[in-house]
Amino acid sequence: MSEELVCITCPMGCRLTVDRLDDSSLKVDGNRCSRGIQYATEELLAPKRMVSATARISVSADTLDFGSIMRLPVRTTMPYPKERVPDLLKAIYALNVSLPVKRGEVLINDFKGSGVDVIAARTLP
Ligand code: SF4
Repeated sequence: MSEELVCITCPMGCRLTVDRLDDSSLKVDGNRCSRGIQYATEELLAPKRMVSATARISVSADTLDFGSIMRLPVRTTMPYPKERVPDLLKAIYALNVSLPVKRGEVLINDFKGSGVDVIAARTLP
């Protein structure tokens, strides 16, 4: 049975049709370039996602200001294996980031040896 995908590697957005062959390889049609094959292979065999979330920031009660941002936007530096995203989110939600923090500051380094860092997505004073 064929699977349909849209390649998101470039704005062309080729519609890919992917068949799994008996030898476990994939047959990809509809791609205008070889990157479509790479995209389909990764998406079906080892999907990854960029992860964006928010992390708790350390705010003392006397500086609490309800007009200020209470959580820090964070993101991964590279796509992370989709099936392990819940583990990564647990680690992000366990953070308690001390201010100040600069955009791009590494908050989690090389998560579980994946080479993926979690960084601050904005500066907070
Ligand atoms: S297959 Fe090639 S041309 Fe088509 S969307 Fe993917 S990268 Fe772009």
